[in-house]
Amino acid sequence: MLGHDLPEELDHFLAAREEELIAFRRDLHAHPELGYHEHRTTSRVSLRLAAAGLRPVILPKGTGLVVDVGDESAGNSLVALRADLDALPINDEKNVPYRSTIPNVCHACGHDVHTSALLGAGLFLAGQAAAGTLPGRVRLIFQPAEEVPGGALDVMAAGGIASVDRIFAVHCDPRLDVGKVGTRTGPITAACDKIRVRVTGPGGHTARPHLTADLVYALGKIVTELPAALSRRVDPRSSLSLVWGRVRAGSAANAIPDDGIVEGTVRCLDDEAWHEAPDLLKALLESVASAYGVIAELHYQRNVPPTVNEPVSTAILETAAAQVLGHEAVTPSPQSLGGEDFAWYLESIPGSLARLGTRAPGSAGDFDIHQAVFDVDERAIGVGVRLMAAAALTALHANGPSVPDRLPDGVGA
Ligand SMILES: [Zn+2]
Ligand SMILES: [Zn+2]
Repeated sequence: MLGHDLPEELDHFLAAREEELIAFRRDLHAHPELGYHEHRTTSRVSLRLAAAGLRPVILPKGTGLVVDVGDESAGNSLVALRADLDALPINDEKNVPYRSTIPNVCHACGHDVHTSALLGAGLFLAGQAAAGTLPGRVRLIFQPAEEVPGGALDVMAAGGIASVDRIFAVHCDPRLDVGKVGTRTGPITAACDKIRVRVTGPGGHTARPHLTADLVYALGKIVTELPAALSRRVDPRSSLSLVWGRVRAGSAANAIPDDGIVEGTVRCLDDEAWHEAPDLLKALLESVASAYGVIAELHYQRNVPPTVNEPVSTAILETAAAQVLGHEAVTPSPQSLGGEDFAWYLESIPGSLARLGTRAPGSAGDFDIHQAVFDVDERAIGVGVRLMAAAALTALHANGPSVPDRLPDGVGA
């Protein structure tokens, strides 16, 4: 079990460091960088870790880094904590002193908060290691390009989780009050793929659709029929959902065009349905297109699998949160149809992603992530520090020789 003084040690650490971490977040927020371009962000994180005596290793593509806290003499267990560094191609519409200084780039998904919280947890754990109280090693993963996505795959290709026993991460949740942590066993985020359908035909005059193929009409049928047919061909419990975001065809009111496109996303909570989706969509598309005499090509772009939280890791997160934030802080999180590339790690090793509440209690408006005005109650950074540090310590103790084979009462409910 963890020492009873962990909450006090974290209080003490944050009393000295919380202001610095908030300033760190504001600096990142004012200088956001898109996926695979996080050079300044990587450098800022790297310098701060190095100043604490740690030895960060930059990933091969030049952005993102991993760093180990503690050494093997403390035990063989290795637990990873992950944050993501990248921002979104959105213009920052907030009126705050730390507003983005880069046009059309904004930390609208809270990755600046994740990065600052992980930095804080890392500095705290480095203090524990220096004091000889860290029962193993903790790897901090500052991952690039979550939104692109693919940064998780780069970390894995670089051997970043090769000997890791468990991995944890948090993600900002603007629908949850600051101080609260949302947990869930099983799928917490969805698969999110992109599709593009290109339809072609001979084109012609709108007076004579029967002599050509009425491409815009066929495109309309594809737009409405594909989601409808999917909802009848796939188990509703898999929550497979196709939603279009872009459609384009034609240039004149009286000319049937010879091509058109429609693009959208396919989201899914179930791994099996996710694997079957491309073939099923292709078959449905062909049947609709052939009925109207057009040719339809499907370009299916696989993105991320669903994030499926492993039960023991989720119980560890809940134990850790209860110890350092209080039992009432832990709340069940609903499934989200958002995508998160943390899912790739969980296809290889056990782990769990928690939701970090960022809403100012009693605030009137609700923010959502990926909105141009998204912002957080910055006390969430300190909460993230407490949660991630405690999760790593709880997991290391759980892997150690002196641990009970069951978790404390009340865990995993
Ligand atoms: Zn995002
Ligand atoms: Zn995100």
